[in-house]
Amino acid sequence: MKTYPMYVAGEFTAGVTTQMMDIYNPATGEVIAQVPQATRQDMERAIEAARNAFDRGPWRNFTGQQRGRVLFKIADALRKEAARLAELETVNMGKPLTESEYDVADAVTCFEYFGGWATKIFGEVNPIPDNAMSFTLKEPVGVCGLIIPWNYPLLMAAWKLAPALAAGCTMILKPAEATPLTVLELAKILDAIEELPKGVVNIVTGLGEEVGAALSASHKVDKVAFTGSTEVGRLIMQAAAKSNIKKVTLELGGKSPNIFFSDADFTPAVEGALFGCFVNQGEVCSAGSRILVQETIYDKFVEAMIEKTKTIHIGPGLDRSNKLGPLISEEHLQRVEGYVEKGKKEGARLVYGGKRLGGNLAKGYFLEPAIFAHVTNAMAIAQEEIFGPVASVIPFKDEEEAVRLANDTPYGLAGAVWTRDIFKAFRVVRAVRAGILWVNHMQPTYVEAPWGGYKQSGIGRELGRYGIENFLEAKQVYINLSEAPLGWY
Ligand code: NAD
Repeated sequence: MKTYPMYVAGEFTAGVTTQMMDIYNPATGEVIAQVPQATRQDMERAIEAARNAFDRGPWRNFTGQQRGRVLFKIADALRKEAARLAELETVNMGKPLTESEYDVADAVTCFEYFGGWATKIFGEVNPIPDNAMSFTLKEPVGVCGLIIPWNYPLLMAAWKLAPALAAGCTMILKPAEATPLTVLELAKILDAIEELPKGVVNIVTGLGEEVGAALSASHKVDKVAFTGSTEVGRLIMQAAAKSNIKKVTLELGGKSPNIFFSDADFTPAVEGALFGCFVNQGEVCSAGSRILVQETIYDKFVEAMIEKTKTIHIGPGLDRSNKLGPLISEEHLQRVEGYVEKGKKEGARLVYGGKRLGGNLAKGYFLEPAIFAHVTNAMAIAQEEIFGPVASVIPFKDEEEAVRLANDTPYGLAGAVWTRDIFKAFRVVRAVRAGILWVNHMQPTYVEAPWGGYKQSGIGRELGRYGIENFLEAKQVYINLSEAPLGWY
């Protein structure tokens, strides 16, 4: 079995801990690797390394061109390793290989995109009225804690590392407990790039409540960029407030509405409902898990969803014929099964699936996608983030009701609307309070366009221009151009 070290101060290390964490293949339930379960002391060391690299190291004073070139090198090296990394992602996380391949390709694009931004960081001249000049300098925010979830391990790392590096920050990345392997492989790629000074990127594995908490409570960290659950996001904000008012950006949970009007193109709409909700086993923050369907097509739509879902192949992600892999863990599978039971008790009609798969899949964490019909928006299965392949199909009468239901949620990450009427589509886009709205599609994500949520889905935006701004401070500089005395006394 493979043992992976952490990456601290430019060295591969087991840390002070002798405690190791087992890493599983969720398709088989087998332990495939071990990684250190870092202690708070290990985290302190990593923070110290990042602090030194920021305060004394050359990184923040590199030119944009120099930093950009480092990011391009990372992208090139990742591209060379793409096939191996995609396979490892599937073995560790469970998702189908084609999706891991997309993720690795997107991670490459992310490093290239933000590599380009490194030479395009500049402030502005402020139009003040006096004989003086005021301008804004953009500077790196400092030492950053990057905390990521398990559903897109390498991609989430890239979304945070790439802009933080382009901005000139130094960082400590903490991968999720279940899925550290591709990120630890990335450490080898980073280590091989001579121009990247030691200590700029540190990677610490361990428990969220221990090392993640130490990172967000540290007085030596200037910012935490977090992706994960709303519950943990709240803890991170509290820790930031109680320590040094560090900056936070939070990409949190969701319960996104996917709205289907009767005039939508029927076949693509049904496919969009299933893809929007079940892709990546439904373990997607923006999953369209509340499927709002206009009454006049409701029964036909649910029927078509059932028929299509029957054709979805489920099994180990390495087999390319499978469209859905296992859920991440036994514990998570049981949690999702718990929601299936809850939905039934609440009075929703389970019209398809929801059962754990047995036979030769029994050792893995496989669940049939579940479709609930006649769901009301007040039910727990319509309000709470399940993070699994469970669709709640809710009927609505007209546009006004669709918008009201769509907004009746504490979350506001994403949403989609399907119709051939562009005027109606745009009215709904404006009325739904969420950070990403798709029209006649659901889920496409681009590194060039901002990502993030309204309401309890988060604070701030990643990607696009916003992505780089997240890791920059604005310094206002004033230059007096008047030679006359101030005349104050
Ligand atoms: P999680 O919140 O349980 O864990 C996320 C990370 O936080 C992990 O690395 C974990 O170790 C760490 N952590 C846990 N407790 C901590 C603490 N007290 N202090 C600091 N760090 C701590 O989330 P998860 O189960 O890994 O991922 C699923 C969640 O992530 C879902 O809610 C999903 O919606 C969300 N998510 C959001 C986005 C987005 O862009 N908005 C993207 C992907 C996932």
